[in-house]
Amino acid sequence: MAEPIREVTIVGGGTAGWLAALLLQKGMPQGRKAKITLIESPNVPTVGVGEATVPNMPRTLKDAGLSERKFFKTCNASFKLGVDFVDWNRDSAGKPISYINPFALPPSFGRMELGVYYNDIGAGNLDFVQTFAPTVDLIRACKAPRLPGAGDFDQTLKVGFAYHLDAGKFAKLMQETCVAAGVRHVPDDVQEVELDDNGYVAALQLERSGRHPVELVIDCTGFRGLIINKALGEPFVSYSNYLANDRAMALQIPHPDPQKLEPVTRSTALGNGWSWRVPLYNRIGTGYVYSSAHVSDDAAREDFLRHLGPAHKDAEPRVIPMRVGRTRNAWVKNCVALGLAGGFIEPLESTAIHMVDLGVRWLVTYFPDSDFAPALRDQYNRLTDKLYDEVRDFICLHYALSNRTDTQYWIDAREALEVPERLAELLEVWRYALPGQYDLPFASLFDHTTYQAVLLGKRVYETGYGRGDLARGARLDRAKWKAYVQQLRGQVKQTVQAASDHRAYLAQVRGEM
Ligand code: FAD
Repeated sequence: MAEPIREVTIVGGGTAGWLAALLLQKGMPQGRKAKITLIESPNVPTVGVGEATVPNMPRTLKDAGLSERKFFKTCNASFKLGVDFVDWNRDSAGKPISYINPFALPPSFGRMELGVYYNDIGAGNLDFVQTFAPTVDLIRACKAPRLPGAGDFDQTLKVGFAYHLDAGKFAKLMQETCVAAGVRHVPDDVQEVELDDNGYVAALQLERSGRHPVELVIDCTGFRGLIINKALGEPFVSYSNYLANDRAMALQIPHPDPQKLEPVTRSTALGNGWSWRVPLYNRIGTGYVYSSAHVSDDAAREDFLRHLGPAHKDAEPRVIPMRVGRTRNAWVKNCVALGLAGGFIEPLESTAIHMVDLGVRWLVTYFPDSDFAPALRDQYNRLTDKLYDEVRDFICLHYALSNRTDTQYWIDAREALEVPERLAELLEVWRYALPGQYDLPFASLFDHTTYQAVLLGKRVYETGYGRGDLARGARLDRAKWKAYVQQLRGQVKQTVQAASDHRAYLAQVRGEM
């Protein structure tokens, strides 16, 4: 007879391991709660990056029982209102285009999408996003999505937001919360993985504490995939046919102007990849994601430091090899892989923490008993497949629609790499019609409006993609559009005026003023 699982073992104490422990501890219903043990090597460091999040993050904090105030203070966290893409595309005069991928939805606008009005009629010098959300204006003014003095998770201003956070401090905060809630923390090295006759993980051999029996194990050992890949032999499926970048270098730098705390992640396209910039409260996390087939580490370092400017010419960024792709099945036998052990798609849209979060939620939903019913495992793996496809396709979109021709890297990104089949089909559709609500049936993060923001942000219809006229002969009500934009701009002005300065808001939350 199937018995309830009494103990869950998590191996790995990076963001994935501790988030899994925290969300499992909080998420499992009473009566089915298993004891959680987290084993973490004191010798193998965590990857130490991963500091930008997506708008599901406030829900993650709430469900984990973490106060936002404490999170801001202990993790030097700041607000993120979107991602600023710089120089991924160029206009017809060869000048860099910038656009914001916002955490905001365009309103419905009659029979035609708002984006059709924007594309076909225009809105002066406003970006697409500025015609429906205050996001861009708040970012430019370095404002928080909050009124002065507003409390935890307040949404009065109705502006979508996520956070930037210090990854090491966040892991520490989760660790303390978990341990206080009864999670057993074992600092030790897994040396060997013992399998039973059915190929299930029976026990882990720990360097100091000896044999640790296993019922259900969550592999959060990072890129090495110690249990899922090495012990269970589940193959890793590389995405190198879709995405060229396989290395990163990371650095922390001070704020050039401490008073100006931009609530945005910036992603600037460079010659052989792109550079991230994540402004935390106390410092900036930055780095360069690049392709080793196109540039050496030394040359990438030069490109990157040139991009950062003379103040950082002698900096020594840390190089991080990246395993881009996924473990074929995330759940195999009695092991579920989460975080980098399960897979990693380059961090362009800061999706990794979100993917761990969803993985744990699905595990809670399909939590097995000792018989490990294959139907539960299969459903978990099907959902994980969809999530990886969703994220991979959205990242590939940015490269497939770049129009840069200045380096072989950018030419290859468009011409030598494969476009995933589903995305290729949709890209043909979108030559004629804006991304629509039926195009993307599984969208945990990137729905059709997010795709619209990318296409219109990159101004693809102005630079030769498709016919350019999205209304295709339908008469658009210009007066209605003009009145709408005017009214919206009035509201945006009010919101920006009312919103607190970003740094001042955080200082107040941290009790520093
Ligand atoms: P790790 O941090 O590598 O942790 C692995 C753990 O396993 C460690 O605790 C280690 O001690 C333990 N371990 C290993 N071997 C053993 C053993 N034998 N015995 C016991 N323990 C062991 N994500 C985002 O959401 N947003 C971002 O902006 C973002 N940016 C990124 C930028 C880069 C360049 C990279 C590479 C990743 C980025 N990520 C981002 C991803 C994010 O960093 C990871 O998803 C996250 O940190 C989780 O890592 P992890 O816990 O899976 O692995």
